[in-house]
Amino acid sequence: MTILRCDRVEGRFEGMVDRVALFDRDGVLNVDHGYVCKVEDFEWVEGASEVLDLCRSRGMGVGVITNQSGIGRGYYSEGAFIDLMESVLPAGMVDLVVYCPHAPEADCTGRKPGGRMLEMALRFFAVDGSLAFFVGDKASDLGAADAAGVRGIRFQGGDLRDLSKDLGIS
Ligand SMILES: [Mg+2]
Ligand SMILES: [Zn+2]
Repeated sequence: MTILRCDRVEGRFEGMVDRVALFDRDGVLNVDHGYVCKVEDFEWVEGASEVLDLCRSRGMGVGVITNQSGIGRGYYSEGAFIDLMESVLPAGMVDLVVYCPHAPEADCTGRKPGGRMLEMALRFFAVDGSLAFFVGDKASDLGAADAAGVRGIRFQGGDLRDLSKDLGIS
C-alpha cells in the first residue's frame, strides 16, 4: 500500500488496472466519530471492507482519498494517521491512500473540495478520470470528484454494499 501526502512527490502503481475505485475514508469506510486516529475508534461501516475486496476481485485499482485536518489542527500526528491506516487496512485491500493533513486555513489546494488528490490517484494508476469513481459522504467529496472529472457517488449511510450496482461490482 502506497501512502501519499497531498504535497509530496507522487508514486506509480506497479501493474495495470482498467478501472479505479476511490473512496473517502471517514463516513464511508469507517463510521465518522470525528477525528478518528486510534485503532479502537476505527469502526468499519457495514459492508465497507467487503466492497473494497469486491473492487479488488474485479481487477480495479483501489484508493482512499481523505482530508485529515486533525493533523494540521494538532489533534494527532501524521505518524499516528499512517500507523492507523497500516493497522486497519490489511495488505492487498487498498493500493493507495492520499491524504491532506492541512487545516482549512492553510488553503491547501489538495484539500477537498479541490480535485488535486483525486488527480494524484488517477496519475498513480495511470488512468483517465472516465475510468474512475469516487464515493464520498459530503458535498466536498462530490465537489472534488467534479473538479477532477471523476464520477462522484454520494453515500448516505447504511450498508456500503447497497451501492454495489452503481459501482459495477454487483
Ligand atoms: Mg467523509
Ligand atoms: Zn494538503
